[in-house]
This record gives sequence, C-alpha cells and structure tokens, in this order.
Amino acid sequence: MEKILTCIGCPMGCQLTVTLDENGAFQSVTGYSCKVGKEYAPNEIANPTRMVTSVMLVPGSRTPLSVKTARAIPKRLIFDCLNEIRMATIALPIKIGDVIVPNVCGTGIDVVATRNLK
Ligand code: SF4
Repeated sequence: MEKILTCIGCPMGCQLTVTLDENGAFQSVTGYSCKVGKEYAPNEIANPTRMVTSVMLVPGSRTPLSVKTARAIPKRLIFDCLNEIRMATIALPIKIGDVIVPNVCGTGIDVVATRNLK
C-alpha cells in the first residue's frame, strides 16, 4: 500500500511516496530531497506532530499576544491545545519565552509567548 505525503520541512514541499505494510506500518519512502524528508515520513506515519501557533487577547493590551508550542505536539491534540490556550489567563507584562500554558494537554511541552507585551 502506498501513501502520498507532502513534506512540511521547508517551502519546497517535496511529494513523498510512502510504502506501508498490510498493517499500515512504515516500510520505505521515496521523493525526498534531503534527510529531513526521509525522517519526516516514518514519523508522520507513526506519530504525526505539529507546532501549534495562536494568538490570545490580553486584558489591558490592544495588541494580541502571539504564542506557540515550544516543540511539536501530537497532531490529534491540536484542538485541545487551542482550547487550553483560549482558557488561559495571563497578565501584563509578558516577555518572549514566558510560559503561557505549562505542560499543555499533559504533553510536557509548554506554550510560550513569541512577543513582548508591556
Ligand atoms: S525533503 Fe527536504 S527539501 Fe524536500 S520539503 Fe522536506 S525538508 Fe524540504
């Protein structure tokens, strides 16, 4: 069985052809232009992950706060992660790198601020 993926490692977006066994387990990949794509394919099959970015309203600031997960989280948790970001309460001032949501969705990964707000 074959599956077509688009590598998200860079803007080239190489089209990867992944061969899976009868249980859906990764066997091989072709179509990558570098080792990032070669490593992305088996990871995407076994445990797809994504960085999550969002913005939040902050009391007292007209400017929204941009945030992101410090590392990629399992793709299946994206909406739960966005919910935890939406429910978070924060106060000014905020510095880049401040933890906004610790251990989001129990992943051990924090959501952090990506800008300063005074
Ligand atoms: S395989 Fe390499 S060159 Fe191709 S999209 Fe992925 S990171 Fe970019």
